[in-house]
Parts: sequence; C-alpha cells; structure tokens
Amino acid sequence: MAVAGPSANGNRVVNGVNGIAKGADPEATNFFNGEVLAGLNASKVTITKAKSLKPIPAVEDLVFGNTMTDHMLVATFHPEHGWSAPEVKPYGPLELDPASSCFQYCPNVFEGMKAYLDPQGEPRLFRPELNMERMRRSVERVALPPFDTAELLKLIKLMVTLEKRWIPAKQGCALYIRPTVIGTRPALGVSASDHALLYIILSPMGPYFRTGPKPISLLGVHDAVRAWPGGTGGYKLGLNYAPGFQPQREAAKKGYMQVLWLFKEGNGLEGLKVTEAGAMNFFVVVSRDDGGMDVITPPLDGTILPGLTRDSCLSLLRAHSPASPSLPALASTPLHAHERTLTLADLVRYSNEGRLLEAFGVGTAVVVVSVGRIGYEEQGQGLRDITLREHEGGHGPVAKALWERIVEVQEGRQEWEGWSVKCV
Ligand SMILES: *Cc1c(COP(=O)(O)O)cnc(C)c1O
Repeated sequence: MAVAGPSANGNRVVNGVNGIAKGADPEATNFFNGEVLAGLNASKVTITKAKSLKPIPAVEDLVFGNTMTDHMLVATFHPEHGWSAPEVKPYGPLELDPASSCFQYCPNVFEGMKAYLDPQGEPRLFRPELNMERMRRSVERVALPPFDTAELLKLIKLMVTLEKRWIPAKQGCALYIRPTVIGTRPALGVSASDHALLYIILSPMGPYFRTGPKPISLLGVHDAVRAWPGGTGGYKLGLNYAPGFQPQREAAKKGYMQVLWLFKEGNGLEGLKVTEAGAMNFFVVVSRDDGGMDVITPPLDGTILPGLTRDSCLSLLRAHSPASPSLPALASTPLHAHERTLTLADLVRYSNEGRLLEAFGVGTAVVVVSVGRIGYEEQGQGLRDITLREHEGGHGPVAKALWERIVEVQEGRQEWEGWSVKCV
C-alpha cells in the first residue's frame, strides 16, 4: 500500500508509489510518482456531439465488433497535470506519437462489457463493478497511471445513455462496450508509461450465433502456452492475445474452431492441465452415481482469466438446489459446482466412462457456447477426438439453463442479487 504523509503545502504525498486516495477531494485524488495530481473526474466531462448520426445496421447484418457507434470518450493522463477532463466526441481516429509505449512495450489494458435494454426500454449493465475492479488490477499490473474506476463507471453509464439508440431492442442482442487504457509515453526507454490515454468505444452486437447456438470444436494445444503461473493470463491485457493467433490459425487448418489451452506440468495426458478455451473460461458437466451432476471449471491459479460470466455461472450453480432452484429448468437435478484442476486425462476418462455430459465456454461476448468435439494429440498416436453427445437446439441442459438465466437477468427480465444495474 501507499505510504502517505503531509507535504509542505498540506497536500498528501505518496512516496514513489502510485495510488488513489479514497474519499479525498476528487480534484486531487491521483498520486503519481510522489505528486498530487488531478484524478479522473466524470463531473468534468465535456460533450461534443457528432454533426450527423450514422445509420444503424439491422441486427442480422452486424458482425461482432465491426460497427462502432457515433461517439467515443477520451481522457488523457499527463505526468505533470494528471487526468484531463474527459471528452465525449465524434468517433474517429486517434493521433499518437509513433514512439508511444503502447506500440512498443504494450502496456495496454481493456475490458469487455455489454449494455442491454430492459422491458421498460432502459439501458442496463451487468455486474459492472467486477469489470471495474478487474480493470483496476490490470492497470496496476502494467504500472499504468491509476484512476478511480467509480469515475470510469459513471462515464460508461453516460456513454451508454448517450448511445442508447444503438442498443438493439432484441433478445440476446446488446451494445458491446470496450473501455481501454493504453500507455502513451512518447519515448523508447523501456520503462513504465507515465502518459496514458483512456477511451471508451461501443459496438452493437447481434446474436452471437445467427442460426442458434451451434457447438464449437476445440483443439488441445500445449506446445504454445497462453498463460503460465506468475504470468499475466489472469489480467485483461492486450499482450495476452496476439501470441494466441498463430496457434489459433494452426488449429483452424486442422479443422478446429478454437484452441483449448493446456498447460503441461508432467508427463502424459495426466500432466496436461486444461485452462481456457480461446478467450473463454471452460466448464465441463460430469454425471455422478447419485443422479446429480458435477460442474467443473479450473481454479483461478493465475493461468485463468477471472471471468465474470464464469463467476456468475458458479454463483448460480452454487445457489441451486431442487428445493429452491436458481436454474428452474434443472429443478429436479442436484448440481455440484467445483473449481478444481482438470486434466486432459480426466476429460478422456469421463468420456470413456460415458459420464462427460457437456463441455462449454463462457464469456461476455457469447455468454455460453457449447463444445461438440475436443481434439488432442497423444504421443505417437496422432490426432484423436473426444466427441460430446449432441443436444437438440445445440446446448446441453446445464449450458442452456445458465444461458437462459444469465441473459434474462442481463436484460432485466428477472432480478438476481442486484446483478443488473441501471444506467441512470
Ligand atoms: C474476457 C475473457 C474471458 C471472459 O471474461 P468475462 O468477464 O466473462 O467476459 C475469459 N478468458 C479470457 C482469456 C478473456 O480475455
């Protein structure tokens, strides 16, 4: 934690540590390298509206992440002045010094969130405090200038309200929100960025799968590693993703849609720990002798991104009991949620025993996507497949129940633990 003490002019000074003063004057809540600087302050926002508004494509024509709304929000951090007044302005290119650290050393952080319309036609966010807390940790991990994420959340709500006409009024559709912070220190020295640019852009999303939920195929990969103990896989940093593109392309060449990231800790299939599927958290459903089901996802050991969809699934599963079902579609089934190590050998064994009922990936963009096939290479034996049973409509019962429940809470059609948050 920061060590604070009074300075000559009465301002609190933090010695060589960066941080936020909780509850202090928002005019001077940002400490950076011992200076007291302006904090990010949503009340200082200025708004310049676009002169003409873009036509909004039909939801069926939307490709994920390709269409941006009319406006964006930007704020900058300067080491002498702190955070600038946030500016809403027409969506458009940024101008950056080519030496900016974001292009060289990648101190880049992002979040992925969605806004939904509730039955009253008002915009809602889903558990946004969790995104804010994760972003705070990501910013800290790459030593970017900190800011009060409660102020960022106010700015996100403002943008969602301003761009409300872009939120598709259709079940399963949403406005995707991408808050981003990049290091903009205009120098090539290898050190933490003392300049930053924070921006928010928004993109309308149609249904992730146009023709209903379709199971995906995964290829288990361990010669390329997404995340490792002590690495950065547990943070939403831009630098985690580019190294996955080439393995993803190799998997596609072999006929698989996504990579199942395995982490090799020992010999044989026993030594291959299952971590994540593409950029999604991974779950399996395994039948038990007592008629219940085990729902298993790997624990947060630093190689797993702490997804809030993952957390929401675990909470709903743990709250579920036949007497008081949080997943009504599975009312008669006892469900046992586990965060525990899952190896490729476990998957093969569950499958051989006929107990592997479902596998699915979860994340904000897709919510839940079922897995139909998992390829893996056993030494000297070539490529083999674990084939999951097919379910009518694409999802197995647990994936379907979780998808339905989460989406109805997100869209404000059902309340659950205050997860759905209004923007005004
Ligand atoms: C964003 C992300 C997830 C999903 O997190 P959510 O908070 O549920 O959207 C999972 N894995 C990786 C690698 C991610 O980047």
